Amino acid sequence: MFTTQTGPQPADLADVRATNLAVVLRFVRANAPCSRADIAASTGLNKATVSSLVAELLERRLVRETGLAENRIGRPATMLVVDGAPYAAIGIEVSIDELTVVAVDLAGTELLSWRRAFDASAASPGRAVSAIAALAGRAVNRVGNQQRQVLGLTVAVPGLVDAGGTVRLASTLGWRDLPLGADLRRALRDPGYDVVVDNDANLAALAEYRHGPYAGTANLVHLTGGAGLGAGVVADGRLLRGGRGFAGELGHVPVVSDGPVCPCGRRGCLEVVAGIPALIRRALPDVAEDGPVTDFAPEVDRIRAQARRGDRPTLDALAEIGRHLGQGVALLANLVNPEVVLLGGYFATLAPWLLPAAETELLARTLAPEAGGARLLASALGTGAAAAGGAARTLETVDAGRLPLRDPDRAVARDPGPSARVSRKSPTRSSTSPSDPEPDPTTDATAADPDATATPTTPPADAPPLPAGHH
Ligand SMILES: [Zn+2]
Repeated sequence: MFTTQTGPQPADLADVRATNLAVVLRFVRANAPCSRADIAASTGLNKATVSSLVAELLERRLVRETGLAENRIGRPATMLVVDGAPYAAIGIEVSIDELTVVAVDLAGTELLSWRRAFDASAASPGRAVSAIAALAGRAVNRVGNQQRQVLGLTVAVPGLVDAGGTVRLASTLGWRDLPLGADLRRALRDPGYDVVVDNDANLAALAEYRHGPYAGTANLVHLTGGAGLGAGVVADGRLLRGGRGFAGELGHVPVVSDGPVCPCGRRGCLEVVAGIPALIRRALPDVAEDGPVTDFAPEVDRIRAQARRGDRPTLDALAEIGRHLGQGVALLANLVNPEVVLLGGYFATLAPWLLPAAETELLARTLAPEAGGARLLASALGTGAAAAGGAARTLETVDAGRLPLRDPDRAVARDPGPSARVSRKSPTRSSTSPSDPEPDPTTDATAADPDATATPTTPPADAPPLPAGHH
């Protein structure tokens, strides 16, 4: 299983029943629609155990029944799918020029995807925390109004993030030792859901691994292509984090001796010669004269237009960036032998012009023949990949066995005390309890946030109260 956790595994993994519940949930996610008999046949759990586990997953509204289908011996069997409706997970991506928020339901269906302009160069860390918390609050309110329980918020940051959620260094944002996780929890008034901060490349790699076109590829790299350049590396099916969680800083590998000064303070880093700002400086010298770029998208569109017209200086600039990228990818190919390397962010939209030079360089600089089988491709996930990966991180923890407490409204109303709150068993719910009408997941999907440009100063007020976390 893909491991996103840096700390100890949750204690409930020791609980055999919780582990088996997760086994069944993962099976249903991967094989839905499927029957109880399918689960028993494939997992090795006996049929009575599967029935009992499925009953609990149904009661917790993690799976639902979806009609009958013929099974292998021709008898009709009730089929199961993951129940998306009651739960939601939220991911926010912080870039130098915008914030992106994505929410998905438990089945992974996108519930909303909003972007708002964010000028990192002008915002103090305090204002950035407020802006992130305000956007999170809006998303929490929206899914709360759909009667969904938020299971987690994950914020993706282009920089070094320690296991405690402190951003040690995000040079493109100008952040150093910012306790973003703690600040956000405070700004969101200690919400009942997890608030996690992680590196953007790691989360983008998780999104690729979980639902991109190369999902499940055990050796996969996602390169971020925004203001920074980072590598999210999945090696042998696990995210490569390193000792303190700082692995994958490909952008700060030196590639040009005495090259230009990088935002990190060193010279000739890959990021400063191959990043999107470097491309804009080279291909659009008029823009560079106007000072720092605060919105990359229109500039990248102009570069694409110039490249399509065959503008020679633009094509040369793109080829040079591609060569540098190939140098960086060759380094990865020599070290971790990836099967697929995906150019993300703005690199993806420029891939037709970057890839030829990058591939040539990759092949020339990798010891193994054919670059060790590494395929260099454009990511299909767009510029919000890390936000999607943030939402996916929460689903990973559920699949790994950290199942949500059930029925938050009742749990709060009847809360008999802390010992019951952490219990995995709770009184059997009345079979006559009304089930929530299933909200139409298309209503808000990808809709523009009507007042995303306003800066709300109040945290979410109408999200349902949630039980305490259950580490
Ligand atoms: Zn650097």
